[in-house]
Amino acid sequence: MTDATIIDGKAFSEALVTRIAEKASALSAKIGRPPALAVVLVGNDPASGVYVRNKIERTTAAGMTSIEHRLEADTSQDSLLALIDDLNNDDAVDGILVQLPLPDQIDEAAVINAITPDKDVDGFHVVNAGRLATGQDALVPCTPYGCLLLLRDHLGSLSGLNAVVIGRSNIVGKPMAQLLLQESCTVTIAHSRTRDLQDVCAAADIVVAAVGRPEMITGDFIKPGATVIDVGINRVPAPERGEGKFRLTGDVDYTSAVAKAGAITPVPGGVGPMTIACLLRNTLVAAARRFDAGPMEI
Ligand code: NDP
Repeated sequence: MTDATIIDGKAFSEALVTRIAEKASALSAKIGRPPALAVVLVGNDPASGVYVRNKIERTTAAGMTSIEHRLEADTSQDSLLALIDDLNNDDAVDGILVQLPLPDQIDEAAVINAITPDKDVDGFHVVNAGRLATGQDALVPCTPYGCLLLLRDHLGSLSGLNAVVIGRSNIVGKPMAQLLLQESCTVTIAHSRTRDLQDVCAAADIVVAAVGRPEMITGDFIKPGATVIDVGINRVPAPERGEGKFRLTGDVDYTSAVAKAGAITPVPGGVGPMTIACLLRNTLVAAARRFDAGPMEI
């Protein structure tokens, strides 16, 4: 069997961002200002700091406005909720993103559900989760939406395909399963209590791995020719690169899976870049809806 097609999420996301930037420019002309994303970071978690900086840079590069709010690690829940309330009521803000995780004194669900659903560009609010589950217009979580765009681009119609999503988190696994169901896939959601995971996966035309366990899904789990989407981003020691060095790896064992799959996303360079592209897409969609500027399908 020949090696799989490598699904290039980096190239796909760059083309997507170019289209988003064009639409953002057209929308700016219509509404008199660029679409605007407010990003809230609480505390000094280094990884969160990197993610936020990246999001801000990419938002600006796409011709949108980025409004940054940095709060101290000991910020109270009430102060954060007061900021969210201000942003909800600020006409100059189209999208609100609160970087997770939040410090222990803050209830994440309370914060997420305080964001007005129409500005919830992460798509985590229960109203958006409910809209997605019932087939209504929703702001959809960025990572699973990015996976869907890659799958559609590679496979065309997904109708009737067997899809296994490994992981049932609210931010990846569950919305991914909903999106695949909307595409008329036959969907199985696997998790830590699933029995015979290997057999479950071996029947799948599409495997989406969102487990958070480095290289757990090996080629033995993959049906020959299946499409494999690796959501995992794991930082593992890489002594071969020098003392104390790390490398990024997915939830899929790339070397064995690439020999079985028909197509596969690499890590890095697969799903990762799609997540930020879809955040920009959601910001554009949220702005267009707020100003009744017509459909913004990209
Ligand atoms: P969570 O930890 O919230 O969820 C992990 C899921 O995997 C859970 O549902 C868990 O099951 C399941 N699981 C754990 N162990 C096993 C096992 N042995 N067999 C089967 N299922 C198992 O993670 P997230 O959904 O937030 O993230 C998943 C991965 O995706 C991580 O690597 C994360 O870094 C990455 N990620 C990447 C993003 C990107 O932009 N590319 C964005 C977001 C996440 P149970 O519910 O039973 O505990």
